[in-house]
Amino acid sequence: MDALAVLLLRRTGKVAVAAHGAGPADGAAWVAALEADLAERGWLLSADLRAAATRLHSSVRVRWADWLLATVDELVGADRSMLPLYRAFPDTPHDVDAVYVRRLLTYLFAVPDAPCVLCGREQGGAPLDPCGHLVCPGCFPPERFSACPICGRRLSVDCTYLPVVDPGPVRRPPRRAGGDGSAAPAADQGTSIAGEAPPLPMRVAGLETDAMGAAAALRDELVARPGALGESDRADLKVLVAATAPAGLDWLPEVVPARETLALIIAWALHATALSAGYPELVSAARLRWQTATDVARTLWAYSGGDPGLILPRAVDESRAPGTAWRPAGEPAVTVPVTRVRALPRPLRRAVLGYLDSCGAVAAAEDMRRHPTVWKRLGERLHPYERVAAHPGAAVAFAALRGSRTARTGALGRAIVAACTRHPRHLILTEYPDDTVAVRVRTHACLVEQALSDGDVTGAAQLLGQRPGERHPVLLRPEPVARLDPRGAGNEVGLDRADLPGAHRRERLPGWILRGHRMHSGLPVLPRLRRGHP
Ligand SMILES: [Zn+2]
Ligand SMILES: [Zn+2]
Repeated sequence: MDALAVLLLRRTGKVAVAAHGAGPADGAAWVAALEADLAERGWLLSADLRAAATRLHSSVRVRWADWLLATVDELVGADRSMLPLYRAFPDTPHDVDAVYVRRLLTYLFAVPDAPCVLCGREQGGAPLDPCGHLVCPGCFPPERFSACPICGRRLSVDCTYLPVVDPGPVRRPPRRAGGDGSAAPAADQGTSIAGEAPPLPMRVAGLETDAMGAAAALRDELVARPGALGESDRADLKVLVAATAPAGLDWLPEVVPARETLALIIAWALHATALSAGYPELVSAARLRWQTATDVARTLWAYSGGDPGLILPRAVDESRAPGTAWRPAGEPAVTVPVTRVRALPRPLRRAVLGYLDSCGAVAAAEDMRRHPTVWKRLGERLHPYERVAAHPGAAVAFAALRGSRTARTGALGRAIVAACTRHPRHLILTEYPDDTVAVRVRTHACLVEQALSDGDVTGAAQLLGQRPGERHPVLLRPEPVARLDPRGAGNEVGLDRADLPGAHRRERLPGWILRGHRMHSGLPVLPRLRRGHP
């Protein structure tokens, strides 16, 4: 069975059945046996699914039933063998608080070659493999546990703490149907076993007549979600897109609220149409969907199998992490795979460089500064300096990102000088004595801060108005305005709330930024401390 059928059963509880004709004579009896197996797992068949399953041909029905039972098993976790921590389960300790305290004391204070912190006897226990906890065999008798008594983690086979014991006969807990009242068989109500067991919630499997329609509806629901999708939702969306419209973007709504989802869908479509005649058309459609340089980075990062949220694993110095001394010797390090940018086909490279060029050197360079590592990796595949004349804006943005120093008379040098002449406020040209040049970009926040430092309130408000959706770090820091008013008098040059653009007007701004706010010896007095003053 395909991944789409599993997904539809998991998300909608419906199954598509390819049954034709009248079906075999023993169909009803066969479905009754299947129903008994399903009921054991907490599932019932709806009337229409039951009728369709009765008509299934005998050559395919066993395979279909095997798939249905295996999928249902996976949904409820019955495909894995459950091993309780206490071997005497369900006969577990009554005083769970005492157990917790003993575990916590051992976890915090047990040290190698020291007496046990609970009973005081010598040889408090050797570190367990792989969790490294020191477990005293006197306080935590090994024959009672099947894993580490402190953390519950499964132990490696060569760990000598746990003895080999006979697992004993398999006990199945008694079950009673009837999670929702409709599914409770009347015959079970009076028996004594059924009275002891907790009720088992039942689900009803229905018949799916239009699998593609249901897949498209699920796909559109996931695409319309405002936030970035989780890992399982992403995997499901990939299956749904592959089943419905793998090689196009025309099905997408006008606005996709989550940029990460849009990037993933474009990346999958790029892979699906690679080496086909429709590839250039798809690249053009993707270019129409991009709104910022960061959208491009998300798409290319997802194209290489990375996280479209552009979150990179932190490089931590493990040797200084807390508790490192207690880790077992020779413990294998768990490493997060680092995304390697794939080779990009030439039409895609040209489209990306063309888009960055259309953004302009200033906007592209400022956007790239938000994710410098990602863009440096992408730049290695984009080759922005290859055809500087064709995409000068993109080349200058990469020169600002990389801090490239280049000859003034070369193609890149000329592009840098020209861009800095056009945007003297945003792009700063650095000239070196050996006739080389480099370029730096001044961000929007930097310009706002500069305007406030110069006392240009109108200019600052105008700059803030250009990007009303952006939260400026400068608004949350006291220094720029504090510098304006060193004498401690009332702040005459702060901003009026009415000067601020819409999004900032409604924010709870710090008092120091507003006109008329009183300063104290050059430092801002926070509104909370000021309360009660005359
Ligand atoms: Zn002990
Ligand atoms: Zn442990």
